Amino acid sequence: MIGAVASLNIKKNDTVVVIAGRDRGKRGRVLRVVPVKRRVIVEGVNFIKRHTRPNPQKNVKGGIVEREASLSVANVQLVCPECSSATRVGRKQLDDGRRVRICRKCKGVIDK
Ligand SMILES: [Zn+2]
Repeated sequence: MIGAVASLNIKKNDTVVVIAGRDRGKRGRVLRVVPVKRRVIVEGVNFIKRHTRPNPQKNVKGGIVEREASLSVANVQLVCPECSSATRVGRKQLDDGRRVRICRKCKGVIDK
């Protein structure tokens, strides 16, 4: 695809497992996908400490805030809802014309 953002195999609310980096082995739900950057934010994974300055105009208190930082989609793998193992994602078209993601391991349909 040229000039378009390739669609990712990971979508919001998927369960993924981290396969590289500091949080390797952790599982979590995908909170947000950033297709342009090919990054995802996963609940409870890749916490970073943000030092914030107080900003009274925006009602922001100073201090240290912990929040999830995005990680590359290359570092996560989808957990199949059918066989609950980490898997690569295939695609197929159903008889009704819908295009869905399938699990490469159990061939189960991921998108209901
Ligand atoms: Zn499966």
